[in-house]
Amino acid sequence: MAEKSFRRLLFEVAKASHPRASPLRPTPVSAVTFTPSANLAELKPSATIAVSARARALRAAGRDVIDLGAGEPDFDTPEFIRRAAQKAIDSGATKYTATEGILPLRQAIAAYTNASRAPHIAEVTADEVVVSNGSKQSLYNACVALFGPGDEVLVPTPSWTSYYEMVMLARAKAIPVYAKAECQFKVSPADLLKQATAKTRGVMLNSPCNPTGAVYTRDEMRALFTLCAEKGWWVLSDEIYVRIAYDGVATRSLEVAPDRERVVVIDGVAKAYAMTGWRIGWTVSSKPLAQLMAAFQSHTTSNPSSISQHAALAALGNPAEADTSINAMVKEFHARRDAALAVLAQDPSIRVIRPDGAFYLYIEAPNASTSDDAGGAFCNHLIDQHNVAVVPGSAFLTPGWVRLSYAAAMPLVVEGVKRLVTAHRECRS
Ligand code: PLP
Repeated sequence: MAEKSFRRLLFEVAKASHPRASPLRPTPVSAVTFTPSANLAELKPSATIAVSARARALRAAGRDVIDLGAGEPDFDTPEFIRRAAQKAIDSGATKYTATEGILPLRQAIAAYTNASRAPHIAEVTADEVVVSNGSKQSLYNACVALFGPGDEVLVPTPSWTSYYEMVMLARAKAIPVYAKAECQFKVSPADLLKQATAKTRGVMLNSPCNPTGAVYTRDEMRALFTLCAEKGWWVLSDEIYVRIAYDGVATRSLEVAPDRERVVVIDGVAKAYAMTGWRIGWTVSSKPLAQLMAAFQSHTTSNPSSISQHAALAALGNPAEADTSINAMVKEFHARRDAALAVLAQDPSIRVIRPDGAFYLYIEAPNASTSDDAGGAFCNHLIDQHNVAVVPGSAFLTPGWVRLSYAAAMPLVVEGVKRLVTAHRECRS
């Protein structure tokens, strides 16, 4: 009897919220509408992740799609790192760790950072390091800790899609600073100054850059860091691709900045060590800022995976072995870049940014000067007619372009770029 009245009650509640519902046929969750909170009302899903998901779905449906959208190395995590993770599991390293990461890893990160630091920069210590679930979380921690309502953050554009969203999630305003394609889309101090206001509080810097592959020279980096130090702006220096450079070594912030008072270095193991899925990134900042970010992280995710931390410790703690793997991977990326550029060079009307690092080619879409979303239209044509997935430039606030990732096997890269050249010709009007 009691059960009967409870079911009746359920029915009435369901009926009131959804007229066609019955207690035996509950309202499908997809039919329930809701209004997102003001926190997420403006959020755009990650376009880069969406492209890969679409490529995967088409492949699952039997289409032979070449995915040149993904931003992850197609190499396996080196064996010595995988072994370290297995050892960590077997030795019981499976409990919560300190939120900011295990001390040996933070010490290894401090040592790794100090190895390229200029002598005038204060030595980095382990208590200035916070280890997070990928450099994405590190960047987000820093944005939330440093920026807020009323603040403006300069974002050299095109930039990685998540910077704009993270600044917005911190309730600050991302100000795109458009650079010229002729300068590989690299910004100068003058470009930053043009967009600066009294509200400017920070700059997002990324060299080598996603999506362009451009690498700032030592002098260019020095000029930018000098300006930011003079202005008292924070620099969030995203150095996730710093080990993947083709023309010598890419410059890091702590080699050229006048000091590191307002510099947050963001780095991680995802790209250089082929460890995207392990989710280990970190910030190097000051002790008070590190403590604040760790406190924030303690309420959101706590520590990153204990096992992944041990794997990252092996990666940083064995530089000779790691260098062998990284050098082999970078050599292969270099060869693919050259092969892709050679195919593109067969059609001189295709404009491309020549990348010096990372593993992306930024290519101007056909009809870029006459269409509002030439990149999006070109991406659709490419996947629909030629089974090649690339990312529309609208994700990086430059809708006339597309990003092609050459983190795929050489034959796929060459075939994919050949099809892109054909598609480009087809679409030009
Ligand atoms: N920063 C840039 C510029 C990236 O391209 C990416 C990933 O694509 C990240 C950060 C995030 O890397 P992680 O896997 O360490 O979170």
